[in-house]
Amino acid sequence: MLVYNSRIHRKQELETIEPGKIRMYVCGPTVYDQIHIGNARTFLSFDVIRRYLMYKGYDVTFAQNLTDVDDKIINRANEEGRSAAEVAEEYSAAFIEQMHRFGILDPDIRPRATREIEAMQEMIGRLVERDHAYVAGNGDVYFSVRSDRSYGVLSGRELDQLRAGERVEVNDDKRDPFDFALWKAAKPGEPSWPSPWGEGRPGWHTECCAMIHRYLGTPIDIHGGGQDLIFPHHENETAQAMCAWDHPLANHWMHAGMLRVNGDKMSKSLGNFFTLREILDAYPADAIRLLMLQTHYRSSLDFQTDQLDGAVGTLERLRTCVKNLRWTAENSPGDGNLTEADRGLSQAAVTAQEEFIRQMDDDFNTAGGLAAIFELVTAANKYLLAAGGAIATAPTLRAADTICELAEVLGVTLESSQDELPSELVDLARAHAGYAGTDPEEAAETLLAARQEARAAKDWGTADAIRDGITALGLALEDTAAGARLRKA
Ligand SMILES: [Zn+2]
Repeated sequence: MLVYNSRIHRKQELETIEPGKIRMYVCGPTVYDQIHIGNARTFLSFDVIRRYLMYKGYDVTFAQNLTDVDDKIINRANEEGRSAAEVAEEYSAAFIEQMHRFGILDPDIRPRATREIEAMQEMIGRLVERDHAYVAGNGDVYFSVRSDRSYGVLSGRELDQLRAGERVEVNDDKRDPFDFALWKAAKPGEPSWPSPWGEGRPGWHTECCAMIHRYLGTPIDIHGGGQDLIFPHHENETAQAMCAWDHPLANHWMHAGMLRVNGDKMSKSLGNFFTLREILDAYPADAIRLLMLQTHYRSSLDFQTDQLDGAVGTLERLRTCVKNLRWTAENSPGDGNLTEADRGLSQAAVTAQEEFIRQMDDDFNTAGGLAAIFELVTAANKYLLAAGGAIATAPTLRAADTICELAEVLGVTLESSQDELPSELVDLARAHAGYAGTDPEEAAETLLAARQEARAAKDWGTADAIRDGITALGLALEDTAAGARLRKA
């Protein structure tokens, strides 16, 4: 399978360090606020990449950090008159909650910077010892970019070019303006830890590198993040690894594209700034995923908020198709002889799966993968419409299973416990049909049968009471050629 590697600016065959295993790291958030939908898109991209690698049979170990000590956290804590630890704790919990709501799988390892100080100090010590880092007059420890001959290898930038183009912070304590802090000397009121270089706290670029080394071992197979992290964050991460351990940090560097909202860069002043929580409060996670995954993860995504309703409709279309397939297979089975249409549906399921894999094998082309699913949905809907009454069970269930399985690889759930029938149906069946069990599905069947009997006996009072009871539970009763059925209204 082909994976785009940012370091070489092209796709290459995915080769793992150990056969069948993938060690993967994606830079996590700095926990000082609710994450916005641009961050969410990056985490979604890597969630789908991880899910697909697992689908392909890889044993994936996925680590993601929480940056819980940083200037932004300290600033917020000072503004709000509370401790940095409190701010970090609040937004770490908020981040994890929103990731769960968005259907993002938990990482296998979620290290927090403040609990990894020892691993970072060990790496910094090694860099100082090897003359790749120095203690400056202000007490900070800086990485010396000039000491790394390969510096710029990831972003493809040369130091001298950079000097002309980028704005850099002027700091007399640095030997080179691009030198970056591995350890920051403590300032009054800031969280700090003792170290061989005095009280202080780690620099941001240092934590990921040290945590990757500690938990996954270096080099790893895949390192990911948003495109905005390529320089300087990932450049600095890989420079530290090269200089500390004489090998690259990662074999494949993957970067998700940036997100715009309604055609503009997201900004609070333009009124197009959304946190993930705000969008999740208004729309189902699965619909947001469907919309975002229409764009390839490396491309910049223009998130159009007026397309969210359409995405909800798309999600509904997928779910309805699966429901119809399953319901028809169960309630209207044919005689077991396969017609040409039955064989056609089986073939459509096989083709959809093959096409899905072909698209996703090409650097995780989710838009192509979705198209393969929609193709099968169209074929299934046509099949159901043409079949009318009795149908063959096996191809129908196979189509439903394939649609659900492929959607699940994208983290989109089409059948969930929320679709289960309400438990109140049991009481209703007890009252009107003498039902003695506890299963809502069974209760529904009993009720439908009782209503059918009542209608046959022209007992309209009972038939209407059953229908009214069902409607009151937010369910719709449909009379079809194959009999009556319940569905969510
Ligand atoms: Zn990082």
